[in-house]
Amino acid sequence: MANLSMSYFFSSSSSSSARSRVQDNVEDTDNSLKERLVHHHLEESIRPYIDLIDTLRSVGIQKDLALPTIVVIGDQSSGKSSVLEALSGIALPRGSGIVTRCPLELRLRNVTGGVSWKAVLPRLSYEEKIIEFGDPSLVEKHVEEAQNELAGKGVKICDDLITLEVRSADVCDLTLIDLPGIARVPVQGQPQDIGNQIKRLIMKFIEKQETINMVVVPCNTDIATTEALRMAQEVDPEGIRTLAILTKPDLIDRGTEKNILAVVQNKVIPLRKGYVMVKCRGQQQIDEKIPLVEATQIERDFFQNHDFFRPLLDENKATVKCLAIKLTQDLVSHIKKSLPKLDEQIKKQLWDVRNELKECEAGPPQDLKGAKQFLIKILTKFNDKIKSLSFGELIIKDNLFVQLRTEYKKWNDGLNDTKTSLKSAELSQNYRGRELLGFSNYRVFEMILQDRVAKLKEPAIKSLNSIKDIILKQFTDVSHQCFRNYPVLLNTTMNKIDNIQSSQQAKTEQRIMDQFEMESMIYTQDPIYLKFLNEISSDKFSEAQLPIVVQRMADQLPMLISFYMLKETAQLLCTDMLSILEGANVSELLFEDSDVSKRRKYLQSRLGRLTAAQEALSDFI
Ligand code: GDP
Ligand code: MG
Repeated sequence: MANLSMSYFFSSSSSSSARSRVQDNVEDTDNSLKERLVHHHLEESIRPYIDLIDTLRSVGIQKDLALPTIVVIGDQSSGKSSVLEALSGIALPRGSGIVTRCPLELRLRNVTGGVSWKAVLPRLSYEEKIIEFGDPSLVEKHVEEAQNELAGKGVKICDDLITLEVRSADVCDLTLIDLPGIARVPVQGQPQDIGNQIKRLIMKFIEKQETINMVVVPCNTDIATTEALRMAQEVDPEGIRTLAILTKPDLIDRGTEKNILAVVQNKVIPLRKGYVMVKCRGQQQIDEKIPLVEATQIERDFFQNHDFFRPLLDENKATVKCLAIKLTQDLVSHIKKSLPKLDEQIKKQLWDVRNELKECEAGPPQDLKGAKQFLIKILTKFNDKIKSLSFGELIIKDNLFVQLRTEYKKWNDGLNDTKTSLKSAELSQNYRGRELLGFSNYRVFEMILQDRVAKLKEPAIKSLNSIKDIILKQFTDVSHQCFRNYPVLLNTTMNKIDNIQSSQQAKTEQRIMDQFEMESMIYTQDPIYLKFLNEISSDKFSEAQLPIVVQRMADQLPMLISFYMLKETAQLLCTDMLSILEGANVSELLFEDSDVSKRRKYLQSRLGRLTAAQEALSDFI
C-alpha cells in the first residue's frame, strides 16, 4: 500500500477494464466530476461532526462519557480486517488465529481540500505514546509492537485501546474500532476461557447506546446462527444500531444465492440499518499482492457480472464504497442524535467536578518559598479558626458554647441537689457529739461542710473530663478542616493539642482542688461567714452556709474550666502552632495525602477535558 496516489472511492485515477481508452477517459471524467461533487457535498455536511467527535476524543472525553462510534465485530476470519483494509486503504496485521488482540481504533481522515492531494500521514498512538510514521507499510509492525506492549507477547488479549490515525487523500472520514474476533477453540498458549474473554470485551463496546455495531458475517456460513449477530441482537434487539456486512460472496455454495439475497434485502433477520455485501481480496489475491485499488475494481466487476447479486448495486447494498458512504452517513446522523445528550452529560459532570474540586482546595506550590508562604497561610487560617472558636464566633456542627452550657447546667443541677439533700437538719444528728441540744459544735459544722464539699469533687472532675472531650472534638474538627490533606501537619497539630490539653487539664484539676480547699479555709476566715455564724441559729447553720459554697462553686468551676481548658488552651495552641515555622521542614509538613493529590489531579484533568468538550460542543448546540 505504498502507492499514495490511488484512491478507490472518489477519484478517477484507476481503471482496469478492457474498454477503449477514449471511452474510458470520457466516462471517467464524467464519473469523477459527479463523484467529487458528491464527495464535496458529503464532506461539507459530515466533516464538522466527525471533527467534533475527533476533538472531543482528543481532549480525552471518552474517559468520562461514551462517544458515538462504530465497532467491528465478527468471528475469527470472517473478514473484519479485510473490510477495514478496504475502507482505510492501509494494510492491517493479518495472519491465522487471533491477530487483533487489543481494540484497535482506526481513525480515517480525508485530508484533500477539493482536488488537491496531500500526503498520507499515518499516526499510531497508544497509551501516552505517539508514534508518527510516514511509511504505511510500517503499520503492521507498529500495531504488533503496541499489542505486545499492552497485551504481552503471544496470544493474550487486552482491553486497552490502540489508536491508528490515517490521514490520507484516499480514505473517507470515519472512525471505527476493530475488536478481536470471536474464537471458538483456544489456540496453544491461550487460556481456556479465551472465547468468553473476547465476548466480554466485545460486550463492553457494543452494549453502549452510543455505538453502531458493524457485524461482519461471511456469506458462506449460516448467517442466522452467527455468534456476532446473536450478540448484537442481544444488546440491540430491534436492530436500530446494528449494521451487518456480508463478506466472501465469491465463496458461497452454488444454490444458496437466493437465500443470501433474501438476507441482504432484509427479509430474514430484519435490521433497521440493513445489510451491505462486500467482496474483498481473497488469500490468493493478497499473496499475489493485488493492490487494494485494483481489488475495488475487481469488486465492482464481480457484482456487475453476478447473476444474482447485480441488483444490489442499484439498491446501494453492495461494494465497499457503498459501505463507506453508508457508514459515514450513519455515523454522522448518530452523532447528531447524540449531541443533546452529550451536552447534558457534560454539563452535569462539570457541575459535579467543580463541586468536588472545591472540597479538594488548591494544593501547595512546588517551590520552597511559595510552599512556606502557603504553610504560613494555612497555619494562620487554623489559628484564626481556633481563636474564633474559643470566642464562640465560629460554630462547627455542634455549637461548642451550647454544649458547654449544657455541661455547666448539669454541674449546677448536681449542686442544687446537694443543697436540698442537706436541708434536713436531722442529718446533723449523725455528727452530734456530747454537746447539748441547741448548741452547735463549731467543728461539727466544719465536718459536715467539708464532707459535703468533698462529695462535689467527683462531679467536678467528671464535668472537667466531659468538657475536655467536647473541646478536643471541636479542635480536632478544625484541624481536619484545615489540614485534612496534609497527614504530617495534621498529626503534628493533634499531638500539640493533646500535649497542651493534658497539661491544662492537670492545671485545671489542681485549681479546682485548690478551690475546694479554699472553701473550707474561707469558712474559718471570711467575715461574711462569721456574720452568718452570729446571725443565724446554729441549727440552720449548715443550711445557710452551703448555698454560699454552692453559689460560688456553680460559678467558679465553669470559669476555671472555660479559662484554662478553652481560652488558655487556644492561646497556647496558637503560639505553639506558629513555632512550627521555626526551622520547619516545609515539604515534609506539606506532604500531601497521595489519595488527595491524586484525586485533585484527576479532578483537574477532568475539569480541563469537560471544559474543552463543552467549548467544542457549543457551536453545535
Ligand atoms: P478477520 O479474522 O475477521 O480479520 O478476517 P480476515 O480479514 O483476516 O480474513 C480472513 C480470510 O478471508 C483472509 O484470507 C481473507 O483474504 C479472506 N477474505 C476476506 N474477505 C474475503 C472475500 O470477500 N472473498 C474472499 N475470497 N476471501 C476473503
Ligand atoms: Mg483480523
